[in-house]
Amino acid sequence: MLTGKADSENAKLTWHQTDRMMFQLIEQAWDLFCVFDIYGNLIYATQSFDRIVGFIPDSFEQVVEFIDSEYRMDVHKLFIKTLQTEDSIKLEFRAKRACENTIWLECTTLPIKDENGELVQISFALNDITLRKNQENRLISMAFHDPLTGLPNRRLFKEQMNQMLMQTKRTGRSLALLYLDIDDFKIINDTMGHDVGDAFLQEFAVRIQSCLRDIDIFARMGGDEFTILLPAVDYKEHVESIARRIICCMEQPWEVKGHTFRATVSMGITMYYPDSDGSTMMKQVDIALYDVKGKGRNNYQFFRFKEENGQE
Ligand code: GH3
Ligand code: MG
Repeated sequence: MLTGKADSENAKLTWHQTDRMMFQLIEQAWDLFCVFDIYGNLIYATQSFDRIVGFIPDSFEQVVEFIDSEYRMDVHKLFIKTLQTEDSIKLEFRAKRACENTIWLECTTLPIKDENGELVQISFALNDITLRKNQENRLISMAFHDPLTGLPNRRLFKEQMNQMLMQTKRTGRSLALLYLDIDDFKIINDTMGHDVGDAFLQEFAVRIQSCLRDIDIFARMGGDEFTILLPAVDYKEHVESIARRIICCMEQPWEVKGHTFRATVSMGITMYYPDSDGSTMMKQVDIALYDVKGKGRNNYQFFRFKEENGQE
């Protein structure tokens, strides 16, 4: 134990010892840590860079290289903002691991000043927050997707539709909305069981998706009701050909959990007209679908504008 004046002198650490202690503390406090001068030249980087990123950087530009391109500009801005404000700033971004996996990092900049109060260095203290980010992303995805089919749910569909309507207004192209309701789905549930009904809904989603383009939006609104948005369709005939393709792909017998059966779907369709809005289009497809169901199902119908409007 250290006692008295002579001992307290002994307790003082040499610069060398202080440095060694500081580096050990840094290595343990953060997953990655690096220090730059104000021009972006690297002064120090922890050995953990080699293990996590696959190399030890020698400049700010090299650090930026392992960051996902969509965040690179933000990281550049982070450096500049810390330089300008001389404040510590936080930023979360995605980067590439040595093993090509993705890593989420929380970065805190730490401005370092000299004895005259001049900013001379900027440290980046980084922690791996991949677990937390993945959990957050899973929760966000769950809030916007149907758990049974993995398709966008009503909430996400509404947002996508609003975005698509704005885009359609800008481009002057057209847009079609289809509302699908499986015919006599209750019979599938009642005769083969709810789990067969569930598995059928999953296979239905896969089959219908195969009739669509990548740019089309396909969502489950709930129960046996689905919506499709077809952007950039200039002709009604194009929409009709997709509706026919859907009817056609339903004709193939379904083999679900050891049961083989046939199923059909009914569809209400409406086209975008200048000044159409989302809720009006939803009402129009509902009316058209009601018509199809009334006329015997297994078909599609376009919403008809009232004759007095002079439009079909
Ligand atoms: P219609 O031809 O008029 O559409 O009649 P339908 O028998 O298809 O009945 P409807 O569309 O009115 O009702 C759909 C049924 O789907 C009601 C509900 O019991 C069932 N359902 C809703 N969600 C699920 C689900 O997630 N899984 C299963 N298996 N069934 C569901
Ligand atoms: Mg139905």
